[in-house]
Parts: sequence; structure tokens; C-alpha cells
Amino acid sequence: KTYSKIDIKQLEEEFRFFKLMKKPDFGNNGEESEEDSGSDTVGSVALDYTGILSAGTSTGGRGNCLPGRIGDSPIIGAGTYCNFSGGASMTGFGEDVIRNCCAKRTIDLIKFNEFNAQLAVDRMLKEFKECSKNSLGAIAVDFRGNFGVGMNGNSMNLAAVTALTNGKGLVLDKEIHYGSYKGMEIIEK
Ligand code: ASP
Repeated sequence: KTYSKIDIKQLEEEFRFFKLMKKPDFGNNGEESEEDSGSDTVGSVALDYTGILSAGTSTGGRGNCLPGRIGDSPIIGAGTYCNFSGGASMTGFGEDVIRNCCAKRTIDLIKFNEFNAQLAVDRMLKEFKECSKNSLGAIAVDFRGNFGVGMNGNSMNLAAVTALTNGKGLVLDKEIHYGSYKGMEIIEK
């Protein structure tokens, strides 16, 4: 929802209503409740056959938040990040994802510690758990084409395609992986 100046009264109304609900997002010591946790996030990371990496995150946001809240998804380095080493996209409790710069941390582990994408996701999640009890799901791809996935919450649906090309974009072989976290199965070859 966006607000123009004319909508300021409505914003005040909503804020009053929000306070009356007594369920503020930041109220329970920064921990998420059941109601807060649902979202329609779609994250995507890719490496194409020319070596170009990309990352993107689309979010439905979270429930019980103040009007005007900006989560981690559009913040580069927090919910989304990409450079020449890899790309990463996050879903989960945005405030903590911002505090921990989770997407940037994942890619730094690839760049500076020479982790592959899976090791980087695992390490970043471990570090996150040390300072947050809230949910976090992550996907990443590294410049070698390895992908990594991980989650500390309940459910996350995933799909990945790995392909061998002739270097000009012609796909010689491909594997499609999909499933729900935890674990991805190779379904089709
Ligand atoms: N991370 C998002 C937010 O906090 C929610 C999500 O899409 O997982 O706004």
C-alpha cells in the first residue's frame, strides 16, 4: 500500500487501529508469532551459460506490520544480493534478515572463504540462529553453478534446474530438482 499526502488521515486511523489490536510486529520482543509468519515470497537466483549471475526476491510482506514498513526483500545485501561470486535470496523475519545482512553474508562466504553455495547457506543460517529465534529460508547460487538451499522454519517449496550446455546456450543435459524443504529430490533427467 502506498500513501499520498491526502491519505495521511487514513494512515493515522490505521495506526490507531494497529495499536488497538495489541499485536504489534515489534511487540513480542522482536519474535514472530504464528500470524506473522505466512508469506508469498518467491526468490530466484540464476547463473546463465555466459557466467552472468542474478538474484531477485518478490514478497507479500508480513502480517501485523506498521503501514509503510519496508522489509528485507528490496534491501540489497539484506534479503537480496548478487555479485560476481554468487547470488542469494532470503525469506523470513525481515527485521532480523536486515540486521544480519544475510544475503551479503552468504555471498561473502563464497567470495572470501571460498565456500560453495550450500556451505555458505549452511554457515549463514548457523550464524543467524546464534542471534535470532525467528524464521529464515535461503537460496543461493555460486559462480561455479552450485546451488545451496536451507531453512530453519517449517516449510519452503523449492525448484532448481542445473544444465550442461555447449557453451553457446545449447542444453546438452539437464537435471530438474524440486521438493519441499527439507531436502530436494531429483525428479526428472
Ligand atoms: N522477508 C519478508 C519480510 O520480512 C517476508 C518474506 O517474504 O519472507 O518482509
